[in-house]
Amino acid sequence: MANSIPKPVQDLIQAFTRLPGIGPKTAQRLAMHLLQSPENMSDSLSGAIKNLKISTMLCRKCWHLTMQSPCAICDDQYREHNVICVVEHPADLIALEKTGTYKGLYHVLHGSLSPIDGIGPDDLKIAELMARAKEPNGGPAIEEVILATNPTMEGEATASYLSGLLKPLGVRTTRIARGLPSGADIEYADDLTLMRAMEGRHEF
Ligand SMILES: [Zn+2]
Repeated sequence: MANSIPKPVQDLIQAFTRLPGIGPKTAQRLAMHLLQSPENMSDSLSGAIKNLKISTMLCRKCWHLTMQSPCAICDDQYREHNVICVVEHPADLIALEKTGTYKGLYHVLHGSLSPIDGIGPDDLKIAELMARAKEPNGGPAIEEVILATNPTMEGEATASYLSGLLKPLGVRTTRIARGLPSGADIEYADDLTLMRAMEGRHEF
């Protein structure tokens, strides 16, 4: 059956299949859709994909995705620069930011501790977080670090680990409330749930 599909189409289907949440059927439907759509649609798609890596970088302060470092959030003088909210992924930051209630800064770890997958502290932006907590780099001293890692086993382990490192520094450490269903990702939680989780944070 695969032979009935020309090689370039097969390649695209394969590439789509490697994306999260896309199975072989959806991949084929997407490829066929692009084949049948006007030229400029595939042009703009391929252009956007190419630009994705060229034009974005990680903020050297909070490690969020940005087009310039420091990012607009770190650079915003109207935000509270003495509070840092720690998240696992840029998508979590985006979800929290959408609620519009949090006014502090962020720190993106780019993952969570997972010994099974061989992910240890050195694989995450943990040393960078500790550096920020110790030496605020010209800004005010960090007074609170909110641990907003996901309520998964890995997320909880990461929060405990960070709390153990931060407390000896005299930094107030809090954990977002358990309004989030266990195992659910912050990224997919609705605004109200996230707002409540943030407001109901507790000493940790
Ligand atoms: Zn930043």
